[in-house]
Amino acid sequence: MAGFRSLARQVRDPRGDLALRRYSLRKCLERFAPYGHRATWDHLCARHGLEPEDRAPDPARLVRALEELEAARAVWLAYESGFAERRRREKHDGLRRPGSFDDWHRRTWGGNGIAHCDDPDVHPSAPLAEVLGRLIAALGAEPGAVCPVCTEAGIVWRQDLDREPWSGPVCTGCGIVVPRPVLTAGALAEARRARTRDLASAA
Ligand SMILES: [Zn+2]
Repeated sequence: MAGFRSLARQVRDPRGDLALRRYSLRKCLERFAPYGHRATWDHLCARHGLEPEDRAPDPARLVRALEELEAARAVWLAYESGFAERRRREKHDGLRRPGSFDDWHRRTWGGNGIAHCDDPDVHPSAPLAEVLGRLIAALGAEPGAVCPVCTEAGIVWRQDLDREPWSGPVCTGCGIVVPRPVLTAGALAEARRARTRDLASAA
């Protein structure tokens, strides 16, 4: 199975067939896709003027989309290696993190669905590296009451997510499934109440 970097080389290969270069970029998203595969593809297409179904896209746009993805991946890999090291120290000192933090890390290790967007058409519009930077800052800070990416307070609990954790807080501003560890207990409770209100008004 080709790794991210060899796929990236294929995307850049000026002698490569355009359809294959595009395909290689999509394969990169199987290795690293912060919003999930479809939402990240939708995001890259929107930001770099690619038609999602165009099999012979402008190669310069294709490479710019790859560059955005690579920049985000570098941010994430730096975070993961720092995290692994910190964890070793904490274990050594007998410190334990809340289970929700571990669960979240296990699911996102390697960079898939870090800021999963359940609806592939609804995702943050800022550059991926910037969004991940905001999320990482929030993971290292005290829990807050708003979305760490768009600072929206409208967070609702959803029960029907299409992947693990299957249910969780979703930001109504930018569409990400907000990692539970970055939200206060009060914000999580408010999200659950918002869901109950929605159900009541739909009944
Ligand atoms: Zn948001």
